[in-house]
Amino acid sequence: TISMVVIDRNGVMAAGTSTNGAAHKIPGRVGDGPIVGSGSYVDGDVGGCGATGDGDIMMRFLPCYQAVENLRQGMNPTEAAEDVVRRMMRKHPKVMSGVVVVDAKGQHGAAASNWVFTYSVRGGQMKETQVVTVPPVVVEG
Ligand code: ASP
Repeated sequence: TISMVVIDRNGVMAAGTSTNGAAHKIPGRVGDGPIVGSGSYVDGDVGGCGATGDGDIMMRFLPCYQAVENLRQGMNPTEAAEDVVRRMMRKHPKVMSGVVVVDAKGQHGAAASNWVFTYSVRGGQMKETQVVTVPPVVVEG
C-alpha cells in the first residue's frame, strides 16, 4: 500500500491510497484502499489520514474518517491514530492495521496493531526524508 497525505505551499491538503490488494484475493475484490474514509480521508481545515492493513476488517470502521474527526475533537495525530486502532482491536484483536494522521499544521503521528509499521515524512525545510517506526499498540489486560 502507498498512502500519501500532502499539504501544498498554500496549505491545501490532499490524501490518497493505492494498493495491489490482499494476497490471494478473489477476482473483483475491492479492498479498503479506494474506500473514502477507510484507505484515506482529508478535510483541509483539520487534517488527513492514510491507512492500510487487513482491509476487509478495516473498511468496516472507516478508520481514516474517524481519525480526522478525532483531530477535529482536539486529539493530536498520534492520539487520533491510536484511538482508531483501539476501536478496531476491541472487535478484532488480531487485526493488522497501520494508520497515519497529519494535521493541517503538518504535525504527524501514527499507530499500528499486530505489526511494526513505518512511514516517511518530508516537508518544510527538511533536507532528508525521515522514516518513523511505530511499534504496535498494546492492549492492557
Ligand atoms: N489494505 C490492503 C487491502 O486489504 C492490503 C495491502 O495493501 O496491504 O486490500
